[in-house]
Order: sequence, then structure tokens, then C-alpha cells
Amino acid sequence: MAELRTGGVAELLEISRAWLVDPVAGREGPGELIVRDGILQAVTWLEGAEAEGIGPDGVIVAPGLLDLHVHLREPGNEDAETIATGLAAAAHGGFTTVAAMPNTTPAADEPSVLARVAAAAAASGLPVELLLHGAVTVGRAGERLAALGELADAGAVGFSDDGAPVKTPVLLRNALLYLGPFGTPIFEHAEDPGLTAGAEAHEGVVSAILGLKGWPVAGEEAAVARDLAILAAVLPDARGARLHLTHLSTAPALDLVRRAKAAGLPVTCDVTPHHLAFTDEWVAGARRWAWEALDAAGAPRDPWADGALVARPYSTACRVNPPLRSADHAAAVLAALLDGTADAVVTDHAPHAQVDKEAEFGLAANGISGVETALSVLLAAVVAGKLPLRRAIEALTTGPAAVLGARAGRRGAARGLVEGAPADLVVVDAADRWTVTAEALASKGKNTPLLGRELPGRVLLTVANGRLAYRDAEAR
Ligand SMILES: [Zn+2]
Repeated sequence: MAELRTGGVAELLEISRAWLVDPVAGREGPGELIVRDGILQAVTWLEGAEAEGIGPDGVIVAPGLLDLHVHLREPGNEDAETIATGLAAAAHGGFTTVAAMPNTTPAADEPSVLARVAAAAAASGLPVELLLHGAVTVGRAGERLAALGELADAGAVGFSDDGAPVKTPVLLRNALLYLGPFGTPIFEHAEDPGLTAGAEAHEGVVSAILGLKGWPVAGEEAAVARDLAILAAVLPDARGARLHLTHLSTAPALDLVRRAKAAGLPVTCDVTPHHLAFTDEWVAGARRWAWEALDAAGAPRDPWADGALVARPYSTACRVNPPLRSADHAAAVLAALLDGTADAVVTDHAPHAQVDKEAEFGLAANGISGVETALSVLLAAVVAGKLPLRRAIEALTTGPAAVLGARAGRRGAARGLVEGAPADLVVVDAADRWTVTAEALASKGKNTPLLGRELPGRVLLTVANGRLAYRDAEAR
């Protein structure tokens, strides 16, 4: 273990007395495993006296995590992130596969851009697998479709104009029709810009008190309703059409997805750690978790009356799109994750250079640097008794893998903890805490309202495809 270097083969690794979580096998419990020459050689589930004293509140081993939605900023904005720093950050977060959004400069709207990004990933020397989404429209401009077939052939795992919705209904319809035979999902950022132009924060009590222009819940609900109607209309002509709604943040939008799934529509969706655990009162300076911000009747508490404001208001680290919602919507996001309406948790990792956040709230860039804190934020929900550990891990492994199907590859998230396959796993100590600081983050993006906060769940080790991707300096 001592001689292991990042990027090198995990030659010998013995993890004893850990809590194994394997969502592929549908199993969790005490166990041990051995990795030799990069191969997961033995997985032993312990029982009886051997299992005594081993619980999910200690060292946890899970398959390597899969994030369907990250922004790595290269090409075009390497001050904010590069492929290499983004993949290092992913490894620190326990992810062994991430899928990058195409809103780079230039946008990933033709195969040559995908090839350039893939080359940068290979050059990084990091074993984290980088999957790529292609743009739906040329330059993400919403005027004409990109070369979707060529991009799919070049390996695009999904299509998105993320940062914005697919601009017009007819473009979305044509893209779904075109991609039907490929079965490749469209990752839709659901927002009706007619309702959200100039919006700065979730429309509600907090935005009213702070004097910020509101982003109404209907802005997401209307977009989801539009998208689902178009999906239903194209299905007779495109049985393979797939719609994936990303970073849903509101109760009514999630309800629409719940009903559409019940009706058999081929729709999936994801939610983010920040929409599930943070709330709009963070913009006012509160920092309590979303589940601590609800009263007994399920309504948001008043942070001013509660004395819950502990940080300065208008921190641009809290500016994100869709915005941090009120605690009742955050509870709906958690409920959707619990009942399977939400298939996956994605980080929407959105690193920014400091200069793009040093502005007044409404002018600052949108986004939170989140790939390194996602697992810990979910573990905070687990510790609070709001989310079963197995469900949290599913949402970061089998859930997102199922959204991509065969395109997810054969890493840990799709395969589980299988003997004889290349080791692809994360080891996290749930009993240990770490403090989120600029220095602790491998990402260039230090834009997170968690800076200075102590979180549960220190990632000790990430092994990706048999190679060491991350190792905590203090891990033995
Ligand atoms: Zn988005």
C-alpha cells in the first residue's frame, strides 16, 4: 500500500472489517476485500462473531461512484477548471466515472471537440473515466440541431444544451425523433426562460426580504410539462426516444415526473445534493441543513425568527441555477429520491474562477463546485436519519448507470463489487470528518458555501479500473 502512486496499478490492497455496500447485488453488510494487481480478487461477507462491531458508521466500501453531470470547463475556461483538475476532484469525491456537459468554448457540438476532450483526459494520467455529452444544437444556440448521429457514433452518452433548455419545442421534438433509433437520452435543463428572465433567487419569502428577483417554481414545472408532452407525442414514431430531466428542484416538477413514470413514459430524472440539503435561506446567511429548516407542519421555518443566520447574506457561493429552493421543495427533492422518482443524484459540479463570483449576487456566475462534497452531503442526510445509506449509494452508482444503459461502461457503478474484475471502488470513513477548505479541494473551483464547514465521511481511497485515483494522505 505504501508504495502506491496515483495513476498506478493498485498492486496490493487489503481492507478488513469494513461495511460493504453493493447495490448491484442488492446487499450491504460487514465484509473484507483484497485487491491484487488491480483486480478485485476476493470479496468476503462476514457473519457471526467475525462481523461483530462492524457497522455502516465506520469504514464503508462501495463501487466507484458515477456522476452524470459535471462541468469541466475545458476547452475554453481553463482558469475555472481543466480536465486534469476536474478528474482529480472527482477522484477525491469518490467518483470513478463522470460525464461532462458540452457547454464549453467551443461547445461539444461536433466530434472533433469530443476527441480533444478525450485526449486531455488520457493525458491527465488519471484513471477516472470521462464520458461526454454532446450539444443538442449547434453552439448550444438553439437554432439548428447539431450533428447528433455523428456525435452519438463518436461516443456521446447523452445530449444537452445544459445551462439552458433546448430552446424551442420543435427542436426538442426533432432531436427526440432523431435520437430514437440510437436510444441516447436528452439531458434537459428544464427552465422556461419566459418566466425566469433576470431571476436571481428562488421566488419566495427570502427573495422578497432580500430584494432579489424571483425564479418561480412554475418556471421549472412549465418546462417539464412541455418536455413530457413532446416526449409522449413522438413515441409512436420513435420508440427508443429517451428524456432525462436533470437537476430537478421543485415539488410540482417532480410530481409530473412521478405521474409520467407511472403512465409508462420513458423518462428519468436526477437531483443534486445542494437542492436536497441546502435551502434559499442560505442566501440570507443560514447554514442549517434543509431537513432542519422545516417546522412540524412541513413548512419552511423563519431563519430570522430562529436566529439561524450565521453567515453574511448574498454570498455568491449560493448562486446556482436552478436556485436553492425553500425547505419544503428540498423535502420534495428528498422524497423523490426516496421513492425512486429521482433515478440518480448528480453534482452539477460547476467550478468558477473567483473573479466570476466576485460580483453582486445577481451578476455572479451560477454554480457550485460540488463533486468533492456530494458524498459527504448525502452522508449528512444518512447520519440525520433522512436517507438510507443503500439508497444514497444506489443514487450514485446503479441509478445513474441505468440512465445511460450500456453507455455507462463496465466500471464499479454498473458492475458492483465483483470478484475477478478490475477493482473500481471507493473507501470512505463515515466516522471521520473533514473540513472543506480551498486547500482541501482538488478542483480549481472553490465556489461552495460549505467552505469552512466540517462534514462527515472522509474519502480514504478511490480505485478506478484497477488503478489508484485518489488516496488520503493520512490513510494507512
Ligand atoms: Zn443546468
